[in-house]
Amino acid sequence: MVSRLTLSSNNLKHLVSLSKEALPMECCALLLGETKVRNLIEVIVTDAISVRNEDRSSASFSIEPEELLNAYRLAEAKKLQVVGIFHSHPSYPVPSSTDQRYMKINPVAWLIYSTTTEEFGAFIFEDSIRQVELQVMV
Ligand SMILES: [Zn+2]
Repeated sequence: MVSRLTLSSNNLKHLVSLSKEALPMECCALLLGETKVRNLIEVIVTDAISVRNEDRSSASFSIEPEELLNAYRLAEAKKLQVVGIFHSHPSYPVPSSTDQRYMKINPVAWLIYSTTTEEFGAFIFEDSIRQVELQVMV
């Protein structure tokens, strides 16, 4: 079971500024990196790729298949994987009922930033939806 999501403070700041720029809409990004199995299973994010929110909505997001494909190609070129999906919420940083449905289809790490509380939440679907620890590297 994945127990931790790790990313750099630079990537974190990048995601915060993308979220604020997109207001009042939700913004989204794909997280590239790798999964390491040590004493725990850790998802390490190395790149955050900004993608367009096709919904142009303040309550939902969707990503065009073409943008998804490009991210997968970029990941492959960098010998990385698409390890997570990021999006912003104008409310609390917890998965909405729509998010929960999509989390089951895309069982990668889901990172949510609240533009209201300015907090991050990291989640994954493995049998059920669980919160995972978020570790920020300086
Ligand atoms: Zn959401």
